[in-house]
Amino acid sequence: PYDVEQRIRLADGSFCWMRSRARPRRSETGEIVRWYGTTEDVHERRLAEEKLHEANAELRATNRELEEFAYVSSHDLQEPLRMINIYTQMLMRKLEGNLDRDILRYSDFIQKGVRRMENLLQDLLCFSRLIHQESRPAEVADLSASLEQALSTLSPLIQEVGAMITYNGLPTVQGQEGQLSQVFQNLLSNALKYRNPNEQLQIGISARRDASGWVIGVRDNGIGFEQKHAERIFGLFKRLYRDEYPGTGVGLAICKRILERNGGRIWAESEPNRGSTFYFTAPGADIHGAN
Ligand code: ADP
Repeated sequence: PYDVEQRIRLADGSFCWMRSRARPRRSETGEIVRWYGTTEDVHERRLAEEKLHEANAELRATNRELEEFAYVSSHDLQEPLRMINIYTQMLMRKLEGNLDRDILRYSDFIQKGVRRMENLLQDLLCFSRLIHQESRPAEVADLSASLEQALSTLSPLIQEVGAMITYNGLPTVQGQEGQLSQVFQNLLSNALKYRNPNEQLQIGISARRDASGWVIGVRDNGIGFEQKHAERIFGLFKRLYRDEYPGTGVGLAICKRILERNGGRIWAESEPNRGSTFYFTAPGADIHGAN
């Protein structure tokens, strides 16, 4: 079959997009003896597609600018913060002996603010570094190794909380082991943080195969949240329990970014007081010839 879109110059010099489709009729010996087909005017559709393409390119450029801004500002804001920190400490040293309760209280507020800002900037920097990293060609990651790395980083906290963590052998997928370990670490540290104080924390990690690759589930029996918030929490700085728990609201945004770059996605299912399950997908290591 013949199917082409072409620009045709009209008599008045203007151009018009046309689509021609045709099928050949062959003789008994297989030679084409005739074409049957149609030509239609697809000009409006082509123009709409071109507009969409331009709008997309503009959006991508704006996005890149914003990301650049986040990177530069999170980097550059660390310096003045360091100054505030150092000079508050110097001021306190100067005032030694004359410190009353108010001064101590105010300095405590400043230091708390500085620490919070430091955490925010660090997480934001970590998030925007992911954008600046060049995407590497498909690597094969052993998810068991990624998980074990995360468990080992979190082991003091896991022991302190007395969490029970269960998992079976996890598959190998396409992706970077270190980044996938970061995903596990963020999900597990959330499970540890948003635990139910009256119950032993149980976390289960599972994997199942579907048509497009692997689906990994990280389930906890923690405080959960209403399902209507399940998409919002993956946004940058989006948090549900603002003052009760420490945090910056960047952890899940980092997970989302890592997985989407890896050709996967992440979502959550939860109910208040009935725990949450975070699922993410990763292409199987056997797809695209990797082994
Ligand atoms: P942070 O934990 O620093 O606030 P995250 O991006 O990791 O930031 O998570 C965003 C929000 O999603 C959290 O503030 C919390 O409200 C909710 N959340 C994440 N994981 C869980 C979980 N396992 N159980 C309950 N709520 C969770």
